[in-house]
Amino acid sequence: MAHAPSISTRIASGGRRLTQQRVVVAEALASARRALSAQELYDRIKTAHPGLGRATVYRALEAQVQDGMASRFERDGHVSAYIACDAEHHHHLVCTRCQRVEDLSEEVVAPMLASVGRRHEFQVDHAALDLYGLCRSCRHARRR
Ligand SMILES: [Zn+2]
Ligand SMILES: [Zn+2]
Repeated sequence: MAHAPSISTRIASGGRRLTQQRVVVAEALASARRALSAQELYDRIKTAHPGLGRATVYRALEAQVQDGMASRFERDGHVSAYIACDAEHHHHLVCTRCQRVEDLSEEVVAPMLASVGRRHEFQVDHAALDLYGLCRSCRHARRR
């Protein structure tokens, strides 16, 4: 596996001023491994980083989305949730119960995009597919 560039390298390569706050937010999101709203991320780091405001957290998350380091999801009530994510994958399975996010492979999506091309005579250049539902462990939990 290729060595992944560090979070601070990636933030700097995004052409943005490297601030300690952005690194803190990026690392907190990466270690969460689930989708978090700005509020939830703020709640996680406010004790360790009392100087970090909620608005700063929100802006740092939006900057990560623009730099291709995170994806944004919509939750009920027009709340945005974020997951640390490589720019290369664009498709996700989002569990609406535990907020776990799994990458949906390009292999699964490719046949669908091909059939869109045939049926609609439309050439897809870019696709971002997020499917919402229940992951396996949440489905089991609900059945009990
Ligand atoms: Zn992803
Ligand atoms: Zn789940």
